[in-house]
Amino acid sequence: MNTAFGQSTVLGYPRIGRNRELKKAVEAYWAGHIDAEELETTAAALRREVWQALRDAGLDAIPSNTFSYYDHMLDTAVAVGAIPRRFARLGLSELNTYFAMARGVDAEPALELTKWFDTNYHYLVPEVDGDTVFAANPAKALREYREARDLGVESRPVLVGPATFLLLSKASDGGGQPFDRLPDLVDVYADLLRTLADAGVRWVQLDEPAYVGERSEAEIAALRDAYRRLCAVEQRPTIFVATYFGTLGDALPALLDTPIEAIGVDLVAGPGNLRQLASAGPLRGKTIVAGLVDGRNVWRTDLRAAITAGAVVTGLADHVAVSTSCSLLHVPVDLSAETALDPDVRQRLAFARQKVDEVVLLGRALRNGTTSLPAPLPASPASWYDATVRGRLAALRAADRQRGAYPQRAAAQQARLHLPALPTTTIGSFPQTDELRRARAAYRAGQLDEVDYTRRMRLEVGRVIRLQERLGLDVLVHGEPERNDMVQYFGEQLSGFAATEYGWVQSYGSRCVRPPIIYGDVARKAPMTVEWTTYAQSLTDRPVKGMLTGPVTILAWSFVRADQPSADTADQVALALRDECRDLEAAGIRVIQVDEPALRETLPLRRADQKAYLEWAVGAFRLATSGVADDTQVHTHLCYSEFGEVITAIDALDADVTSIEASRSKMEVLDDLAAIGYHRGVGPGVWDIHSPRVPSHEEVVQALRRAAAVVPVERLWVNPDCGLKTRAYPEVKASLQHLVAAAVELRGH
Ligand code: GLN
Ligand code: ZN
Repeated sequence: MNTAFGQSTVLGYPRIGRNRELKKAVEAYWAGHIDAEELETTAAALRREVWQALRDAGLDAIPSNTFSYYDHMLDTAVAVGAIPRRFARLGLSELNTYFAMARGVDAEPALELTKWFDTNYHYLVPEVDGDTVFAANPAKALREYREARDLGVESRPVLVGPATFLLLSKASDGGGQPFDRLPDLVDVYADLLRTLADAGVRWVQLDEPAYVGERSEAEIAALRDAYRRLCAVEQRPTIFVATYFGTLGDALPALLDTPIEAIGVDLVAGPGNLRQLASAGPLRGKTIVAGLVDGRNVWRTDLRAAITAGAVVTGLADHVAVSTSCSLLHVPVDLSAETALDPDVRQRLAFARQKVDEVVLLGRALRNGTTSLPAPLPASPASWYDATVRGRLAALRAADRQRGAYPQRAAAQQARLHLPALPTTTIGSFPQTDELRRARAAYRAGQLDEVDYTRRMRLEVGRVIRLQERLGLDVLVHGEPERNDMVQYFGEQLSGFAATEYGWVQSYGSRCVRPPIIYGDVARKAPMTVEWTTYAQSLTDRPVKGMLTGPVTILAWSFVRADQPSADTADQVALALRDECRDLEAAGIRVIQVDEPALRETLPLRRADQKAYLEWAVGAFRLATSGVADDTQVHTHLCYSEFGEVITAIDALDADVTSIEASRSKMEVLDDLAAIGYHRGVGPGVWDIHSPRVPSHEEVVQALRRAAAVVPVERLWVNPDCGLKTRAYPEVKASLQHLVAAAVELRGH
């Protein structure tokens, strides 16, 4: 049964296409502009393009089933028949059922969307209950395997492994334990394996990244049992269990204690794996797939260091293959499209396509002992360092991260703002219309001059302010029409950042972002948001919130430099934001929101690493926000509801008001906040903006009642889950109307 794995592989590849073709096709399908067949034709062409690129690069172990119309967790849910009854009974086509689970339909909210480990990719959380009937549905994996074979590519279908699948699932009512269903689910994976083997599949890749986090002994024992059972399937492909994003800990010996043929370890995010492999004893008969090329950052690999690590692994196991540390889903497709980048930056970069070359090169070098590696890069140019910023950082004291006492601040703010109970607000952005996108694009392309551009954006700000006044919102926003992606927006105005032209990365579903690249010291060249915000404030008496993106989020959604600790880079960004907060305040802005939606996603997966991270993350936020007076109200916004380990850190941010996602999880989050004694303002989202569905007035009232049972109304804010930029005006107007009416109704009681 043991067929050789090959020398080089990637764990996955971007599926969006070089020019986001998938996004365009999927959105055209949703809008009814193309039919299912046309969508499928585009998808098949994109898959072919990837396989051909990987093959032509010389990769000799090529994955398939890494394509997805929306998300690979959702695909796996479909592959094991975990389609919740509420979607199955809609009677839609298979494809439309799939999209209904992803996006919701009028009658049914979507599955919950949450971050994929510590990345900025979001997956859909499968719902698994005691009575979920699993059933193998190998159609997608088979189709892709056959498509690749038609191109002459013998591929390795990839699925999320059964243990990780269940660990990332939840019960539909929030109760129960999906993981208890592992034995049943393993039966279905056994069926899948048999079917794939029948079709000629030689290798499968089962991803078990959940095991790089903290796992209980029982969960690790269950993993071992699951793979022993899968290996006992009589007619099956050889099994490659891929892990990534960190160190495996006790799960490594457990996996080695099963007959699986290959195991993948991340040697970039989990350098400890090397030590662990060494102490695991001789790895006879196993293939180790060494994740040596960083799948999450854009810097060229230090090939000499990688070879050294690879050589250590080679000394331990019979077979070693080189791979990326994780799927290349997390990096842009191809550097060759970037012709405008500063050559000093560009020569240091590698995107997905270039990383494939690195993997191939390393695979060959490891096998053949070649020493003809490209020359290492010279040291970074001196112009990337900024003495002023470095001096300010060195002079920081604890008081620079400390505001006045909260009761005092709250009183001063209320005296200035006179807000009603249950104040209503939004998270910042208003819908990004085609007109706005066109205006921004024309401005960038030089077809629209500064004056015209500003005039158009101001018109939009005026419209958004009037709309909010008409709707009766209490704290207004300017609507962020000038921003595409918020981190990109700030990155373009800070030194030390480079922007790409085509460096798109999938964030969720059809949504892609273009993360900037931080290559040098960060400094603010000039005020960044003051003009837009003060213009908006000049149009209304109600307070307009200044809108900034926090240091942790700016780092999380950028590709960060690898030559200094993230803590230092975060403080550099924080200083720039601190200056911005002060300028906003001086210009008369009374409320400033500093978004930190990414605080949790970059939390290290291992407990041992979390404390240090949270310390610098909280410190950077406080550095950014502590420069203002007591009567300036600081808000923060977080886009998730499962706080877990970060809950005390959220409290430690010391923001006056925290808005959080809550509607998909039905306000559970408030109990968690109450439990740790959080005592400042909180705005649990009462409208799930990830779905086009409009919440009814009654729903909002109900959500607020639930919230008011836990949080005293004096501290409760009323707002959506997140910004509105992906929504359309009809939904926005209707939903905000319900939201304001609900707040008004509750104020009367
Ligand atoms: N202010 C931002 C917006 O409304 C916040 C976005 C976010 O949290 N991701 O778009
Ligand atoms: Zn958000």
